[in-house]
Amino acid sequence: IIEFQQVDLSFGSTKVLNKIDLALDAGKFYTLLGPSGSGKSTILKLISGQLQADSGEILFEGQRINHLPAEKRRVNTVFQNYALFPNMNVFDNVAFGPKLKGLGKDEIRHKVETMLSLVKLADFSDREINELSGGQQQRVAIARALANDPEVLLLDEPLSALDYKLRKDMQQELRTIQKRLGITFVFVTHDQEEALAMSDWIFVMNDGVIQQNGTPEDIYDEPINHFVADFIGESN
Ligand code: ATP
Ligand code: MG
Repeated sequence: IIEFQQVDLSFGSTKVLNKIDLALDAGKFYTLLGPSGSGKSTILKLISGQLQADSGEILFEGQRINHLPAEKRRVNTVFQNYALFPNMNVFDNVAFGPKLKGLGKDEIRHKVETMLSLVKLADFSDREINELSGGQQQRVAIARALANDPEVLLLDEPLSALDYKLRKDMQQELRTIQKRLGITFVFVTHDQEEALAMSDWIFVMNDGVIQQNGTPEDIYDEPINHFVADFIGESN
């Protein structure tokens, strides 16, 4: 569904992505794994259209989308800090995208209810955002992104602000949601355990370069170089 061919990106004189090749199939759970500053968020921003590549091709279903504006891409992002609208209740947060699209009232209500039950917040419609725990806010952020019917959901370290137990639960739930909807997830983390537990396919990044990509088993059993071996072997 998404392809990068030899994508380069620099900020000033600093090269942050170096000849990135990616091929993402529809309906799979992908993870970009790597240390801070390796270029993970930058790749998500190229997929969402928040940033433009300096050179190389970015394709969506075979069409070149290098310059397609963000709002025309069927892609939504969930951020680490949730980025919810604090002055709207849960329902209105999730209804935001469907309302913009001009869906009818009943359709919007149905969509919001479906998404809230998917994230196990069916009874939380009328709550204010500041009355929710961090984990609940993150669920609302996921429901809000999914209510836009993305073909690709980008998740930029969505679990890193949550405590250990909640993180483990949310890992399972995200997997379940991805399977149920059958859309493509691109998940970013610097936590190798999380990547190994959740993914169909992992891209290990360092310094703007994809060091290795493969199934969790490939990467765990046969790291291709010292960087990957050390990074996967570390404990957080
Ligand atoms: P983290 O795990 O800390 O979020 P990351 O892998 O997501 O890291 P990126 O945010 O993609 O890393 O950043 C990659 C590199 O690009 C970093 O060295 C960063 O300092 C640099 N960078 C990112 N955004 C900008 C910007 N707008 N201007 C200049 N440099 C930037
Ligand atoms: Mg980042």
